[in-house]
Amino acid sequence: MSFVVYNSYSKKKETFEPIEPGKVRMYNCGPTVYNRAHIGNFRSYLFADVLRRWLEYLGHEVRQVMNITDVGHLQDDADDGLDKIEEQARREKRDPWEISREFTELFFRDAEELSILPAHEYPRATDHVPEMLAIIEDLVQKGFAYEVDGEVYFDVTRFEGYGRLSGNRLEDLEAGARVEVREEKRHPADFALWKSDPHHMMKWESRFGPHGFPGWHIECSAMALKHLGEEIDIHTGGEDNVFPHHESEIAQSESHTGRRFARYWMHARFLQVDGGKMSKSLGNTYVLDDVKARGAEPRALRFALIRGHYRQPLNFTWEILDESAKALEGLDDLARRLRLAAQGRNAADDPSGGADALAEARAKFETAMNDDLNTAMAFSALFELRSAVLESRLGAETAAAALDFVRAANGVLAVIRVDEEELDADVERRIAAREEARAGKNWAEADRLRDELLAEGIVLEDSASGVIWRRK
Ligand code: AMP
Ligand code: ZN
Repeated sequence: MSFVVYNSYSKKKETFEPIEPGKVRMYNCGPTVYNRAHIGNFRSYLFADVLRRWLEYLGHEVRQVMNITDVGHLQDDADDGLDKIEEQARREKRDPWEISREFTELFFRDAEELSILPAHEYPRATDHVPEMLAIIEDLVQKGFAYEVDGEVYFDVTRFEGYGRLSGNRLEDLEAGARVEVREEKRHPADFALWKSDPHHMMKWESRFGPHGFPGWHIECSAMALKHLGEEIDIHTGGEDNVFPHHESEIAQSESHTGRRFARYWMHARFLQVDGGKMSKSLGNTYVLDDVKARGAEPRALRFALIRGHYRQPLNFTWEILDESAKALEGLDDLARRLRLAAQGRNAADDPSGGADALAEARAKFETAMNDDLNTAMAFSALFELRSAVLESRLGAETAAAALDFVRAANGVLAVIRVDEEELDADVERRIAAREEARAGKNWAEADRLRDELLAEGIVLEDSASGVIWRRK
C-alpha cells in the first residue's frame, strides 16, 4: 500500500517517493512572529505535524525544518507595505528584536500544548542574511536578477516556469498589475530579493548599499537550502502561500541551483471562523488562549482542526469545539475499555474474540491516511472500533492488540488519552476499598466511596465479572 499525496505543483495525486529511500526532507513555512499565531495558522502547522507523524508511522526518517520569519514579510505579501514586525514594533514603541523573540517563544509554547512535535530545526531569517546575500549575488551574476538603487529584483521573464505552481500566466500578471506598479521593476511581476530603506530598523550593509533587508521569499529559499540541501522532498504552507511566496521560492531556488527545488508541494486550505474570514474587526482571530479561557483543553482544538481533511473547507465555531471535546471523550473511553479488557476485566471468553473488528479498523485507518491524509476517515475507523467494542466484548488478546493499534494511531493523531494507568490504578484502589467496606457491611463507607467517584465523573456498575467503571 503506498502513500498518495496531492501535489499542488502537478495538481494531481501522486505516489510519494522520497529522493533518498527511507529519508524525508520536509520544509514548512513557519510563523511571522509579530503577533500570536491564531487558530488558522495552527491549521497549517497541525497539518504539517500530522504529515510528519504519518511519514514516521510508515517508517521514514523525517528531517523537518520550519522557519521563523523575523524580518522582511511586508503587509501585502509582495513588495508593498510595512514590514509586519517593524510595524508592530512602532505601534508598541518596542524593539523589533524583542517583539520577534517574545512571539517566537509564545509560538513554541502554543505548539507544544497542541502536541505539535518540535521540528528538528527552527532557523530564523535574521540569522541567515549572509546566505541570502550569497544566493542573491549568484542570481545577479547569472542574469536572473538585477539591481536598482540598492535594491535587487528577480526578473520573472528569465525563469520559464514562473506561474506553474499557482497557475498564473505572466501576461495575466502584467495585465492585472496595479496602476502604480513600482517603476524600478522591469516586469510588474518581478519580486524583491533585497530591499533598501534608511528608516528600516533591522538592516544590513552589503555591496548593494548600507541599509538593506531581505525579501520574504528569499529567506525560505536560503534556509531550506542551508538546512535541507538543494533538493527537498516536501514543502508545505497554507494555501495563501502558493502565490507569490512559493512561486517565487521556486523561481529563485531553481535558478540558483539548476535543480528541482521540491518534489511535492502541499498546502492546507484556509480555516474559516463563523462562516467567514477571520478578521481583527470582527474580533474572531482566535488564539489558543481564547480556547483555554472557554475551559476547553488544547487537544480539543487540535482535534477540531485535524478531524477534517486538510484540503477541505473547515469552519470553526465554539459549538464545534464543544462537540469536539465530547467526541474525544468517546475515544478516551475506547482506550480505557481496551486497557481493562486487555487485563481480562469484562473481556470475552475467547481471547481472540473481536479480531475481525480490529483488523477492519486498522485497515480502514491506514487506507485513509495513505489517501492524502484522510484524517476524517481515519477518525471514523476509530469510532467504528468503539462501536464494535460497545456492541460485543473483545477477547483479552484482541483488546491488547487493539490497544497497541490505538496507541500507534494516536502517535499520528495525538488527541486521545491512551495510557492513563495512574487514573486506572487510583480508581481501582478505591473500588477495592468499597468492596472491602461492603464485605464488612460498612454501607455508609461504601456509599461514600461510590459518591466520591461519581462526583469525579466515574460511574460504578456491578457486573457478572465484578465491578466495572466508566466515565459519566
Ligand atoms: P504568517 O504568520 O502570516 O506568515 O502565516 C503562517 C502560516 O499560516 C502560513 O503558512 C499561512 O499560509 C498559514 N495561515 C494563515 N492564515 C491561515 C488560515 N486562516 N488557515 C490556515 N492557514 C493559515
Ligand atoms: Zn516560506
